[in-house]
Amino acid sequence: MYCKICGDEDGLTGPFRFWSPDDGWIAGRLCLSCKGTELKRKPAESDFAYEDRNLYLSSEDDAISEIYG
Ligand SMILES: [Zn+2]
Repeated sequence: MYCKICGDEDGLTGPFRFWSPDDGWIAGRLCLSCKGTELKRKPAESDFAYEDRNLYLSSEDDAISEIYG
């Protein structure tokens, strides 16, 4: 497993859900420093994924199964 943001393999959190400007709500493991950043991120109108209601309402189950799948 590796951090979804920076690819670091050390000190990962458990999987949790966070907002990606490109992909919408996704779930994954992050390192602690990326988690600190991502937990503060909120969907913004300028984000690529903002307009996609399907992603916004999302598929946490799909994201989880992508991890454990
Ligand atoms: Zn990271």
